[in-house]
Amino acid sequence: MIVILLGPPASGKGTQAVALCTRYGIPQISTGDMLRQAQAAGTALGKDAARYMSAGQLVPDSVVIGLVGERITADDCKNGFLLDGFPRTQAQAEALDKLLSEKQCPLDAVLQLDVPRELLVERAVLRRTDKATGKIYHLKYNPPPEGAVLEHRSDDQEDKVNKRLDDFERVTTTLIPYYQARGLLRRVDGVGSLSEVQARLFAALPG
Ligand code: AMP
Repeated sequence: MIVILLGPPASGKGTQAVALCTRYGIPQISTGDMLRQAQAAGTALGKDAARYMSAGQLVPDSVVIGLVGERITADDCKNGFLLDGFPRTQAQAEALDKLLSEKQCPLDAVLQLDVPRELLVERAVLRRTDKATGKIYHLKYNPPPEGAVLEHRSDDQEDKVNKRLDDFERVTTTLIPYYQARGLLRRVDGVGSLSEVQARLFAALPG
């Protein structure tokens, strides 16, 4: 099972990816998480990417394509994987096609999470990550346990969120007709409780 989770920032991709990956026994490949890890580890790639990320800008295609190209050769990707936050540009989508055809592994589905923009801004601005567990909470809709040490992503500040949403609408939505033309796109309503959205995603997957 090779699946792409396509959705704007704060549409719930990260949270829903965990449930999908558990169900299908496949790893979650989040380019955002990989870049944040590289940044935390202080690698040259991480430092370079941090300049773009903290400004709410996309990291250059060559960097993320390189990361994904290497990651999908790992042993745990043998039975498939879920891509969360990749591809985000036409160049990335084409590079992915090339990588998958080299592996002779077809893409099964592209799940597009639809959430209105006003809700996305509210979700991102009130989103917090538990530093110890990495779990994602929302101060209003999914409050963290008392005493949790929380982190607010610097790119989840309102001005950065708006920039990221603009980029999504301008650049990433061009991938919708790209996958639609190949009959791979499934649109899923991303508004509702975690379990409601999860059920819709499961129902949208083949088999
Ligand atoms: P995310 O956690 O998916 O919201 O990604 C956080 C940030 O990482 C983005 O705002 C970009 O700066 C960078 N990033 C993650 N994935 C990509 C990608 N596929 N292409 C370019 N930049 C990315």
